[in-house]
Amino acid sequence: MPGGVNSPVRAFLQVGGVPIFIKRAEGAHLFDEDGNEYIDYVNSWGPSILGHANPKVVEAVRKAALDGFTFGAPTRKENELASLIAAAMPDIKMMRFVNSGTEAAMSAIRVARGYTGREYIVKFNGCYHGHSDGLLIKAGSGVMTASKPGSAGVLKSYTKTTLQADYNNKEQVRELFKKYKEKIAAVIIEPVAANMGLVAPEVGFLEFLRDITYENETVLIFDEVITGFRLGLGGASEYYHISPDLICLGKIIGGGLPMGLYGGKKCIMEQVAPLGDVYQAGTLSGNPIATTAGIATLKQLFEHKEKYQEMEENAVQITDALKTAYPYATVNRVGSLYSIFFTKGPVMDYATANTSDLILFRRYFQYLLGRGIYVAPSQFEINFLSMAHSKEDINQTCHVILESGKEL
Ligand SMILES: *Cc1c(COP(=O)(O)O)cnc(C)c1O
Repeated sequence: MPGGVNSPVRAFLQVGGVPIFIKRAEGAHLFDEDGNEYIDYVNSWGPSILGHANPKVVEAVRKAALDGFTFGAPTRKENELASLIAAAMPDIKMMRFVNSGTEAAMSAIRVARGYTGREYIVKFNGCYHGHSDGLLIKAGSGVMTASKPGSAGVLKSYTKTTLQADYNNKEQVRELFKKYKEKIAAVIIEPVAANMGLVAPEVGFLEFLRDITYENETVLIFDEVITGFRLGLGGASEYYHISPDLICLGKIIGGGLPMGLYGGKKCIMEQVAPLGDVYQAGTLSGNPIATTAGIATLKQLFEHKEKYQEMEENAVQITDALKTAYPYATVNRVGSLYSIFFTKGPVMDYATANTSDLILFRRYFQYLLGRGIYVAPSQFEINFLSMAHSKEDINQTCHVILESGKEL
């Protein structure tokens, strides 16, 4: 396997050392192959909101497995999961299940182009929407220059229709709409940016995007692969009271199994095959095992809404400890998501995130790891609370953070 891993950030390149190999996990705790135990703040990058091996999810999946894994034909379970999602996110009037967040974002853009008959899309520097060709562009080429591929093997012809702007920068978005009048099919954004470390939208920024896309008849896509069912049941759209035209989901809705979804306005989603001319398909899409895990997860979230508040309070306790330990750093938090940047800040876009001291981050990461706290092994990834973290877990984590501040 390249780098010994099946997804790059797992290789610990930024923090040094050897990745921990996980043997098993339970609740908020990971156990590695060397017999160490960790309190987990990665949670598989978001899906494990209930903690690991949640007994109800495990039992539901075990039962479902006895009935067969996949049929390539519809099942009631897809409708059940779809109903739960529609109940939580009323902007999703019609939806299609896929197998990953990458597929969801790629397909949402295809349908936006099909619907509008336009070519260009706008994405924001530092936002991640999966690894499809047109979305892997090099950050920071400037508003008016052609976008360059952010990966070898991606053709320039794929990225030249991807326009980019800095997160939270209204002026750049206005300029793009002026220059590419009536050619912009979609604006895609992480309503809370969570792939350059955590960066919140400034007050009014999402409203601004809603207004300008509405005026220009451009499709507004919220990539809620992380924020969906994370910032409460209604995701970021509810949290910020904005109705996007399309929403992408993933991570939590699969309960830890591969799952993604794109959906939204009916007039747009009706363009998707077999109703419309936008082709998109998947052998394992909506398979009964992943949908079962999703249903068992979402049902518990509906039943225990109060736990969102608890997760947020735990995140506040941790970020308070970080601010005390590192008064010269910037700590960003939205709900139960947070990250620390070793820079004076404020951090509100990709450029400011990149002013962080990566050497200090590496020492901070290794200090915590050595004391049983597993946080994201990269400055540019974020940390996730789960509903399984106990007060003891949080207190222990804060204790280690405060100690690290004295020693580093
Ligand atoms: C993780 C992520 C994706 C990609 O999802 P995969 O399931 O890894 O393909 C897309 N968008 C956002 C915002 C993500 O965080």
